[in-house]
Order: sequence, then C-alpha cells, then structure tokens
Amino acid sequence: PLVLGIETSCDETGVGLVRGTELLADAVASSVDEHARFGGVVPEVASRAHLEAMVPTVERACADAGVRLADVDALAVTSGPGLMGALLVGVAAAKALALALDRPLYGVNHLAAHVAVDQLAHGPLPEPCLALLVSGGHSSLLLVPDVTEDVRPLGQTIDDAAGEAFDKVARVLGLPFPGGPYVDRAAREGDRAYVDFPRGLTSGRDLERHRYDFSFSGLKTAVARWVEQRERDGEPVPVADVAASFQEAVVDVLTRKALAACRDQGVDTLLLGGGVAANSRLRALAQERCDAAGVALRVPPPRLCTDNGAMVAALGAELAARGRTPSPLDLPADSSMPVTVVTA
Ligand code: ATP
Ligand code: MG
Ligand code: FE
Repeated sequence: PLVLGIETSCDETGVGLVRGTELLADAVASSVDEHARFGGVVPEVASRAHLEAMVPTVERACADAGVRLADVDALAVTSGPGLMGALLVGVAAAKALALALDRPLYGVNHLAAHVAVDQLAHGPLPEPCLALLVSGGHSSLLLVPDVTEDVRPLGQTIDDAAGEAFDKVARVLGLPFPGGPYVDRAAREGDRAYVDFPRGLTSGRDLERHRYDFSFSGLKTAVARWVEQRERDGEPVPVADVAASFQEAVVDVLTRKALAACRDQGVDTLLLGGGVAANSRLRALAQERCDAAGVALRVPPPRLCTDNGAMVAALGAELAARGRTPSPLDLPADSSMPVTVVTA
C-alpha cells in the first residue's frame, strides 16, 4: 500500500511517501533557521512554521512521487513524543486527510519511526535488533523485538541528550547553531586525545546502576570550564582539538554502551538513528567496534537520520503490512508518549 507519513514533533515539517519499503518522496521544510538566534528550538515558533509549511509540503511530496492524494492507501503521523503544539499541527492535518480520503490512520511513536526508517535504505529490519537513537531531544538504547508492537527501552540519558551536548559545546566554541555538524567538521582537523574529557556513567557504581544510561551534562560543563580556563590564561582556544576531544568522549560512551547491550542481549544487529547518527566519528567508531564484535551495523543515510516524514511513512507501511489495527480518528497528540507504545 501507498502510505503518506507526517512528522511535526520538533522543528521539521516532514511529509514522506512510501510503498512497502520503497521510498517515493521525502519532503522536509525546516524552521531551524528561525530558531538559530535563540540557540534552541522555540515551541511557538515551531508550531506556526508547521502550520504554514504543512499544505505546501504535502503538495511537494505528492509532486515528487508523481502521485495524487487520492492514490494514498493509508496515513501515518507522529502522535508523540515531542512538542505539544507542534505535534497537534501534524495530527490535525493527518486526521483531516484520513477523513477526507476515507483511509486508515496510524498515530505512531517518533522513536519507533526513527528505527523503521532504515528499511527504506537497507531493506527489512532484522528483529530483534538494538537501536541507538541519538538526537537533539533523545539519547536512547532500545531493544526492538518487533518494531510494530514491541520496543523496549534499555537505557536513556539522565540529563542532556547527545545532540543537545553537541549544540551547547558548539556555542561554547563559538560555532553556529545547530552545532553538531560544525563540531563534526571542526573535529576532523583536531586531536581526539588532546583533552581527556570525562566519560559519564562508565565506571564503578555509576556503571552498575546505569549500565545502559547516558549522562552528557558533566561533559558539557567540563568542556566549558576547560575553555574558560584557557581564556582566563589569555591563551587561544584550540577549537579543532577541543571539538575532537569532546566528540570522542561522546561517541566512545555511545558505542561502548550500545555494544555492551548487544553482547548482553545476544543481539547481532545494531542500528543507529537520530540526527547525531550523521556524525562521522560516531559512524566510524561504531563500525570499528561492531566489526570487532561481529555485530552488523545499520545506519540510514544522514538525510533519513534527522527528522523527516519518510520515517513515519515507513513505520506506517510496516504496520499496514503486518495488519496492525489503525488508530481511532479522535487520536490525541501525546507529548510524552512512552517508547513502549508504538501506535496510539
Ligand atoms: P528529536 O530529538 O525530537 O528527534 P531533533 O530536531 O533534535 O528532534 P534531529 O533532527 O534528529 O532531532 O537531530 C538534530 C540534532 O542532531 C541536533 O542536535 C544536531 O546538532 C545533531 N546533529 C546533526 N548532525 C550532526 C553531526 N554531524 N554530528 C553531531 N550531531 C549532529
Ligand atoms: Mg530537528
Ligand atoms: Fe527525531
């Protein structure tokens, strides 16, 4: 079936069209530039941008795929988690389309969609698999026995998300927002061992109690202190070296814990998703460690790692293919939708 997916949980208005595991269109309008001067996503600004972008983005997706709305067999929409006002725009649009076209609607979990999207790049998902989802709003390790109905959280960040840490450190280093790609680029010229920044929750009691959890707030503070000290001493800040050292601390912890989880759970496929999965060093180190552990690594292309509508359509298509029950048309948006709930 042809599935149209809508994503509006954060600052991307995404509309994707998928048939089975085939990607037909992936139209994204981002309000990221409007948030840049605030150094973070402003919920009200994001909601208004979704409202303005929704219809044109649906039209663009249909044009790109060469299909008419009437051809769509099912709708899928992110119903949570995310920013409430932003989610409401997508959910309202999806309900309107489902009603007007008289087609089933699936309200889906944003995190499960980040997992399902890899099917568009690499075909059917081996289940169970382990998913490391790292973005501006999430850092989670998930065990996925069945992406359409059984997603289990193993661990998550206890403070900042990985992408949030990248964005905050970028600001400290005088790099633009969102900082992840700029830190990634700067780090290429830097020395990863220049500063030995802390690896949160990786030893002693912390590790025992938080085997699969992450903490990036202490790391972010350590980088800020290090840079301030340099400035107080009147010395130049070696941006590339600090970026590389910070990035190494993040990806070392992420990959170490993800591979420990694969080993503990007896799972031989690791999937990366979320905006931070676009990070070149994370991809390289994950590949290195997966190869050493005999684990298959699956990483969608960067465009499908960040928020988009195709991922929602991909999950919708899988739900339809496995005959799962659609959501009711009075489906609510749920800003704190638990990861264990795949469809609302
Ligand atoms: P959500 O958390 O709800 O998925 P989001 O908008 O934060 O929302 P994404 O669009 O998936 O999520 O990811 C954006 C984040 O990814 C930002 O924090 C950005 O800095 C980070 N990011 C993007 N590219 C890179 C990169 N190459 N290296 C590190 N971080 C990156
Ligand atoms: Mg985003
Ligand atoms: Fe996301």
